[in-house]
Amino acid sequence: MTDLVIRGGTVVTVEGARLADVAIRGGVIEAIEPDLSGPAAGADRVVDASGMLVLPGVVDVHTHTRVASGALPDRFFQDSVAAAFGGTTSFLSFNNPGTGSSPAAERSLLTGLREWRSATEGDSAIDYGLSLAISGHADDPLTELPATIEAGVATSKAFMVFDFRLADRDLFKAMRVMGDRGGMLQVHCEDPVLLDAAVATALQRGNVLPRYHASTRPSYVEAVATARALAFARATDSPVHVVHLSSAAALDEVRRAKAVGVRVTAETCPHYLVLTEEAYDDPDPVRCACFVISPPLRTEADRDALWAGLADGTLDLVATDHVPDRVDTEKAGAATGLSFDQISNGAPGIETLLALIYSEGVARDRISLERMVDLLCTTPARRFGLARKGALEIGLDADLVIFDPRTHRRLRAGDLHHTSDYTPYEGLSLAGSVRDVLVRGRAVITDSQYVGRRGAGKFVEREHVTG
Ligand code: MN
Ligand code: MN
Repeated sequence: MTDLVIRGGTVVTVEGARLADVAIRGGVIEAIEPDLSGPAAGADRVVDASGMLVLPGVVDVHTHTRVASGALPDRFFQDSVAAAFGGTTSFLSFNNPGTGSSPAAERSLLTGLREWRSATEGDSAIDYGLSLAISGHADDPLTELPATIEAGVATSKAFMVFDFRLADRDLFKAMRVMGDRGGMLQVHCEDPVLLDAAVATALQRGNVLPRYHASTRPSYVEAVATARALAFARATDSPVHVVHLSSAAALDEVRRAKAVGVRVTAETCPHYLVLTEEAYDDPDPVRCACFVISPPLRTEADRDALWAGLADGTLDLVATDHVPDRVDTEKAGAATGLSFDQISNGAPGIETLLALIYSEGVARDRISLERMVDLLCTTPARRFGLARKGALEIGLDADLVIFDPRTHRRLRAGDLHHTSDYTPYEGLSLAGSVRDVLVRGRAVITDSQYVGRRGAGKFVEREHVTG
């Protein structure tokens, strides 16, 4: 017998939007038909979705959630709830330094994997997975990578910058090892030589304010590193994913690489699509520090180029790069003159992904509804090996969002549920809102209220990456 029928909504897939009913049984999509009044008559529950959009749940493949700690036992759980409020039904996290991982986890991928699995077990409200950070301090990451892929961690991330950067030679090898074994390397593309030199010069001149974070990371620093990572992918014939692409210059590199058949996908993030470098003009160093992210916010021309890249397929998906830093904690040092290079990098976003892309993208006619579903749900799920996620299709997990496109509101930090204490989008007007969220057929959000259960979210063992 059918458990649940969602009636009268506009069901959106990559192929199109149509009025249809959706039947769910055993946590799986059982039928999508114009009229399921028959199954509805015998179903346990019927939900009216007239006037609503029925979307696949969002798959956020780039977050830096923190695991629970003694002092903050709800840190991971609460961010998973925040994700659900925003319409996200699965997310991938990194275990990079600062997320609660131990020094031993930085030295061994398999230790890191075991540690993170046990720290997050039974703690999430929605489905979730792991992407490991391959630290340059790891003892023998290339030998460990195949076992991580077999354990369901199909993607891991290498950083070209920061003190845990992976040397180019190892990054090249990691790309090949992962590609050969059905995995995929994600790369943070910024050039360490140019960046370190610019930071040293700024500090020497006494330019320590947060705004110099941005001026020391111009877009060519990103573009030259992107070009190098893509050359590695070309030489190894391996799939590679460029994370948080922020600039027109880096976008051009991706476009060129795709034209010659490099197996690259690229993501951008809501902050690069909504905000610009004007945020660094704020005279208050703490407010300015709230936008200390890497890469930094760019120009209006870059922002426009990214929207065009989403529309024309040069960019493949949008993910948040969520970091739950707080004004009063991780960012607070800016008030007492802590130099920009010492300020924690990152900004929150786990709860606002769908809201921002719908409102700034679809409602402003920059992308179609179908393209939004592709960018937020279907492509991230396919590319990252979440085979049962990301689309409204018979036989897939019943992860879905009932979205009201008619509402209007202003985004306020106080209305969010994440473990940060600010939003980079304070005061922004938004069109549309999430009404209901289901994960594997189970209600997590109903009428914009959390009705889920801690631990109901399952760790997703991901399949091999193809393409
Ligand atoms: Mn990064
Ligand atoms: Mn990141």
